Amino acid sequence: MTGPNAWQQCSICKKPIAYGAPYVKCAVSSCNKKSFHLVFCSSSCWDAHNPGQNHRNPGYTEEVAPRR
Ligand SMILES: [Zn+2]
Ligand SMILES: [Zn+2]
Repeated sequence: MTGPNAWQQCSICKKPIAYGAPYVKCAVSSCNKKSFHLVFCSSSCWDAHNPGQNHRNPGYTEEVAPRR
């Protein structure tokens, strides 16, 4: 349940990420395939995703969700 104002939800805590709101994206290309789109509400949720992914060069970028 994302609600009418949510663009996506955080892949870790499932908190909704609103249109136009800042979010965190993993910088590793395998986390950004179209079929496997990971978004995080904060760098701490991105941190929580790292141990399971075995990233050799972990990193993230701060993005802004599209506006409707
Ligand atoms: Zn989160
Ligand atoms: Zn990742």
